[in-house]
Amino acid sequence: MKSVSFDYLANKLQLLPPIKKMAKMVPFPFIYGLHTAFAYFELRETQWLNHEEIEILQNKRLRNIIKFAYHNVPFYHEKMKELGIYPYEIRRKKDIKKLPIIYREDIIKNYDKFLSKHYKIYGGRAQHTGGTTGSPLSIMLSGKTMGYKRAKNLRFYDAINLKHGKKVIHFRPPPSLQQGRNNLVYEYFEFNRSLYISNLELSDEIIEKHLQKLNEFKPYAILGTPSTLYLISQYILRNNIDVHPVKVTLCTSETLYPYQRKVIEDAFGCDIFEEWGQGEMVGSAFECKNHGFHLSEEIGLVEFLKDNEDVAAGEEGEIVGTTLINKSMPLIRYYVGDAGIPSDDVCSCGRGLSLVDRILGKTRENIVTKSGKKIPGESFTWIVMEQDWIKESQIFQPSVNKCIIKIVPLGNVEKEKENNLIRQVKNIIGKKEEMEISVEYVEKIYPTQAGKRPFVISKVKQ
Ligand SMILES: [Zn+2]
Repeated sequence: MKSVSFDYLANKLQLLPPIKKMAKMVPFPFIYGLHTAFAYFELRETQWLNHEEIEILQNKRLRNIIKFAYHNVPFYHEKMKELGIYPYEIRRKKDIKKLPIIYREDIIKNYDKFLSKHYKIYGGRAQHTGGTTGSPLSIMLSGKTMGYKRAKNLRFYDAINLKHGKKVIHFRPPPSLQQGRNNLVYEYFEFNRSLYISNLELSDEIIEKHLQKLNEFKPYAILGTPSTLYLISQYILRNNIDVHPVKVTLCTSETLYPYQRKVIEDAFGCDIFEEWGQGEMVGSAFECKNHGFHLSEEIGLVEFLKDNEDVAAGEEGEIVGTTLINKSMPLIRYYVGDAGIPSDDVCSCGRGLSLVDRILGKTRENIVTKSGKKIPGESFTWIVMEQDWIKESQIFQPSVNKCIIKIVPLGNVEKEKENNLIRQVKNIIGKKEEMEISVEYVEKIYPTQAGKRPFVISKVKQ
């Protein structure tokens, strides 16, 4: 289904002078459309409910979506009939375990059965997910869900004092480029004063140009994936460049490793705040000013699981999410592919939304050994961080007994340093494991279409 995005239309329309004048008269948040405005007004209030009140709201929405799925979505109707479950038996979060976990492959195989009968009446559009490593998949998000998607970002910006109208640079492929309409490197949107700068090419010369642009534009905030911001930050620190003092940095779409956080904060001299979500819209979280990482519990129900049981606070679990909003294609207990650590702490900001300690990123960002050991990409990051001869790197595992460390070197490479690096990686994987580790020098690390550069890519089934 071909659809024109809101951003694209807004960009075209803003060029017409009368529209430009009128657009200025539309107050925030209505400038983003009615769905977003209503969702924003709601989320702005509900975040301050206490924990019990949020749970009541969540359970109510859960019952609603389960009942809807049973009556309108062929896959869930058949599945629940098969299991002998009636919608009224799923009343609260713990009851949801009666339903099976669904995987990306299940949706690809039964795509039409996951669409609700009258999905077209809910409006919205197809959200493409998956990059180079996953198989592509489009999820239909209703107009209301698209509204919540934008509204949760607006709430995140509020939570870190980034007010509407402040200038923002987004280091990501510009919207028109994402939709294949042109090859723009820079694209500016007047209505939210956002400048998009493509992060698909990040050589030293290009970073230099981007930084000039940044100094001209003088943004209040910058936003990007951790790997992009990290590359730019390293360049700033390495070359001792003066950059316009940004007030806040925001990152999204990838795991933010602690070593990246430190380098980015050093380069830009301000705090960095993280956001987590996915195109499927089954779970999301945002970091508040006090650095509490809050789940957006009104939109999605998130479980952290180990062997189909909830893990305790402080323990790592695989994430399974359920939409509480999307009636076009409701995903219930969808395996997201990220891992995370839930927390039972209470944030000093006063929000009742539950906290997560950390989101650990895609499970496919693990190295898997023959004996079945899974080593998170994060374990390797500190080794690479200490090497001053590496500009950029990525660990690629093409098969179960092979790992290739791709390196963009800085200056000359000494064999001894290379051997030392291989030895350290081997130590982490385990000396007894059968794993051939090699180094490959490359000119650049290619990002995925969405501009992501995961640190570990494994092709081994996990
Ligand atoms: Zn907080």
